[in-house]
Amino acid sequence: MNQDDLFKKISSHAKEYGFIFPSSEIYDGLAAVYDYGQNGVELKNNIRHYWWKAMVQMHENIVGLDTAIFMHPTTWKASGHVDAFNDPLIDNKDSKKRYRADVLLEDYAEKQLQKAEKEIQKAAKRFGESFDAQMFRETNPRVKKYLAEAEETLKRMAGHLEKGELDEVKQLIEEKGIADPVSGSKNWTDVRQFNLMFGTQMGSVAEGGSQLYLRPETAQGIFVNFLNVQKTGRMKIPFGIAQTGKAFRNEIVARQFIFRMREFEQMEMQFFVRPGEEMKWYGYWKEQRLKWHLALGLDDSLYRYHDHEKLAHYANAAADIEFRFPFGFKELEGIHSRTDFDLKRHEEYSGKKLQFFDPEINESYVPYVVETSVGLDRLFLSVLSGAYREEKLDDSSERVVLSIPPALAPVKVAVLPLLKKDGLPEIAREVMQGLELEYNCQYDEKDAIGRRYRRHDAIGTPLCVTVDHQTKEDRSVTLRDRDSMEQIRVPLEELEERVKKKVSFTELLLKLK
Ligand code: ATP
Repeated sequence: MNQDDLFKKISSHAKEYGFIFPSSEIYDGLAAVYDYGQNGVELKNNIRHYWWKAMVQMHENIVGLDTAIFMHPTTWKASGHVDAFNDPLIDNKDSKKRYRADVLLEDYAEKQLQKAEKEIQKAAKRFGESFDAQMFRETNPRVKKYLAEAEETLKRMAGHLEKGELDEVKQLIEEKGIADPVSGSKNWTDVRQFNLMFGTQMGSVAEGGSQLYLRPETAQGIFVNFLNVQKTGRMKIPFGIAQTGKAFRNEIVARQFIFRMREFEQMEMQFFVRPGEEMKWYGYWKEQRLKWHLALGLDDSLYRYHDHEKLAHYANAAADIEFRFPFGFKELEGIHSRTDFDLKRHEEYSGKKLQFFDPEINESYVPYVVETSVGLDRLFLSVLSGAYREEKLDDSSERVVLSIPPALAPVKVAVLPLLKKDGLPEIAREVMQGLELEYNCQYDEKDAIGRRYRRHDAIGTPLCVTVDHQTKEDRSVTLRDRDSMEQIRVPLEELEERVKKKVSFTELLLKLK
C-alpha cells in the first residue's frame, strides 16, 4: 500500500474507532488541534503511565513534578524563548500557502538523498552479489553529486539561520529552484522570523495586566523548581526531575495529523549531573530511552538514532530517536546535553543561586543537565501507525487489527457471552467483576460473535473471553488471542493469571530490567 494512503487510513481509523477527533468538529474543527476519544484517552493514559513508571518510579534518584502552564513571564526571557524561539516562515504569493523555509530546504536535501539511494538500489540490482554499496557511494559521480548537493544545502542553510541571514535563506530557496509543493509556483515572499509562543493577558488589560505565555515546553517548570525539589527531597547529584503536561506552540505548518499539533503533551526529564560527567549520562540516557521504545515490541527497524551535527548554542551533544512514520523517519524524542545553560540563565535573571553543594568534592556548582524529551501525542501516533495492519484471512475475508502492545491497549479484555440468554450474561458479568478492578474490560453482547471479535481487533483488545454453554457445565471459557486469533479453552480459575501474563504493565516493565 502506498504510504500516503496508509497514513490516511490510519487517521480515519483513529476517528472511526474513537481514538482521535478533530477539536470542536461541529464547528468544522480547529487547525492542528485534536481531542482524544473514548479509546484514545485510555491508550494515551497507558503510554503516560508506562513512561512515568519507567522514568520516575523505577529510578530511585528521579522524582516527579506537576507545574503550572502559566509561568512568570521572565522565565521565557531567561530561557531564550522570547528572543529566539522562532521559525523562519515564507509564503507563496500565488498559492497563498505558508511554509517553514527550513523545512522546504530540508525536504529538498532529503529528495537528493532519495535520488542517491535510488541510484544505489538500481546498481545493486544490476551488479548482483558482488555489489559494494559503500564503494559505489564513494565513487559513482552521480551519487556523489546528489550527496554533496544535500550536504551543501543543509550546511548553507544552517549557517544563514545561525547568523539570522534571512535574505540569504530566501536566495538559497530560489537558487535551488524550490517550488511550492502544492501549486508548483516559485513566486516567494521574503523570509520572516515567527515566534512560536502563544501570548495571553493576565488581569484586566485596561489596568495594564501583564503579558503571559502558554508554556512552549514543560522543561522550564522543572528548572525553576530545581532548588525546591533538591532541598525538600534531599536529592543528591546525580538526580532527575520529570514531568508530563501540556505545551503550546503556534506552529506555522501543521498538516500531519497529531504529529505536529498546536496544543500537545510532553514528557520530559531533566537529569542534573556533576559538570564534566554529562557525556557519560548523555550516553546512558540515549541508550535507556531507545531500550524503552524497543520494549514495546513494535518492530526494531522502525527506530533509529539521528545525532545532531548542528547544535543549539547551549548544547554540547544532542540526538533524536526517530520513528519511521508512514511519511518517513521523523523525530520522536530528543536527548540533549544542555550544559548549565538554563540554570545559569535563571540565576542571572532571578538573582537567586541555583547551585548544589557536592559533599564528595566539597564544592558548590551549577549542575549540568541531560534532558530526555518526548511528545506523548507523537508516541501515540507511532504506536498507532506501528500497530495498524490489514490482514487477509484464510477464508479470504479481511480484518483490520491494531497490534498495540498489550499493556498499552485501551481495552485489555472483552468479555462476551455467546448468547444473550441461558444464564450466559450472568456468568460473563461475574467474569467482568473479577477482572475490572485491575484492567479496563468491556462487556459486549451485541451482534454475532465473529463481528464482536472484529470490533475488538479494530481497537486492539489483546484478549477476548467468550462464555458459552460449556462454561455452565465445567466453568471453562474460550480465550481468543488478538494477534494469532488462536482460541483455547481455559478454566475460569486460570483466567486472571493468563490475563496478567499477557497484558499487565509488570510484564512490559520487566523488559527494562
Ligand atoms: P520539531 O523539530 O519536530 O519541531 P522540536 O525539535 O522543536 O521538534 P523539541 O522542542 O525537542 O521538539 O520537543 C521535544 C518533543 O516534543 C519532540 O521530540 C516531539 O516529540 C514533541 N513535539 C514538539 N513539537 C510538537 C508539536 N508541535 N506537536 C506534537 N509534538 C511535538
